[in-house]
Amino acid sequence: MSHIDTICVQGGYRPGNGEPRQVPIIQSTTFKYDTSEDMGKLFDLEAEGYFYSRLQNPTCDHAAAKICEMEGGAAAMLTSSGQAANFYAVFNIATCGDHVVASSSIYGGTYNLFAVTMKKMGVEFTFVAPDCTEEELEAAFRPNTKAVFGETIANPALTVLDIEKFAAAAHRHGVPLIVDNTFATPVLCRPFEWGADIVTHSTTKYMDGHASAVGGCIVDSGNFDWMAHTEKFPGLTTPDDSYHGITYAARFGKGAYITKATAQLMRDFGSTPSPQSAFLLNIGLESLHVRMQRHCENAQAVAEHLQSHEKIAWVRYSGLPGDPYHAMAEKYLPLGSCGVVSFGVKGGRAAAETFMKHLKLGAIATHVADARTCCLHPASSTHRQMNDQELLAAGVSADLVRLSVGLESKEDLIADIDQALAAL
Ligand SMILES: *Cc1c(COP(=O)(O)O)cnc(C)c1O
Repeated sequence: MSHIDTICVQGGYRPGNGEPRQVPIIQSTTFKYDTSEDMGKLFDLEAEGYFYSRLQNPTCDHAAAKICEMEGGAAAMLTSSGQAANFYAVFNIATCGDHVVASSSIYGGTYNLFAVTMKKMGVEFTFVAPDCTEEELEAAFRPNTKAVFGETIANPALTVLDIEKFAAAAHRHGVPLIVDNTFATPVLCRPFEWGADIVTHSTTKYMDGHASAVGGCIVDSGNFDWMAHTEKFPGLTTPDDSYHGITYAARFGKGAYITKATAQLMRDFGSTPSPQSAFLLNIGLESLHVRMQRHCENAQAVAEHLQSHEKIAWVRYSGLPGDPYHAMAEKYLPLGSCGVVSFGVKGGRAAAETFMKHLKLGAIATHVADARTCCLHPASSTHRQMNDQELLAAGVSADLVRLSVGLESKEDLIADIDQALAAL
């Protein structure tokens, strides 16, 4: 089974004779054993199995295994949110006194996690523009740099990451590249094929696809050789006192990074997904390949229509030939540029608000990547506290509308946009 379409439908769970065809929801916090010795082996990580759902649960593991296959990875785990996935992915290898290089073009919640919260924990970040030169990227590294981070398609800036450039720089410095692949999904881009080492997801977005469950996922390619950089990653390459002296990289090979994140971080922080949410996620994954195709097709049509409309000042969508990231998208996203389009309405802030108020199909929501079309005006919502000058510095102009194009008929969506623009 190798084609992504087949993995979306049947990956991660292969029922045996007489077993349920659909992934069972194992809604149990605990698992029973005959002897204390049996259970002890699980606690020593000597045997594989389930004992407490804070660490692992079969329903969650089936969904994680499917995403792992979709990305072409070696091991994966679910988390309760995308925020938890990005936190664990970085904190698993960078702790107090360490440093990380990150693209400046990332999700606002991730920026806050890195620049404010993790900074308080003693992890320093240097942010670089995604289209920086190799020299600028090189200059961001320090002796204590432990990872490089970026987003395939950035939310909300819609920049496309040059994964090969960032991976090469990371590897020159003996550290892994972590890529948040939320907006592209493995249907449109598999970052491991371009040199990324670890991939994260907010499964809340396209993977779930129906705005039903918040969740996250971390996938490890298994390609990064921790033992070749023992001094940089002591957490993986020296004995863990909290697990009777296990050395993860020596003992678990390609599974070391995910085993450590599960055994230490999930044990201690407990950002556990619920089996029910993992079940809903898996249903979303079953149609992801079909939905992504339609999201891309609809967004491309909407972007082209907006570009030709006299009341629209500008459009950003990397599927458009004139877009600054079009060449990058042709390389990394040949099947499409996801369903999110941003654009400016002539007349600025007031015009954007009026336009959105008149949309009938596109709902105003702080959400993206949903089957239903939704839109957001950052200047009057997520970035409301900023004045027009501050907005410009943040790369969010006052007229910017972020439209997440859903799975409705593109003719209906374009008609809806036209009637809302007519109200201006
Ligand atoms: C939404 C999002 C996140 C955060 O995920 P949650 O599931 O909301 O915690 C992280 N990265 C990207 C790119 C996102 O779009």
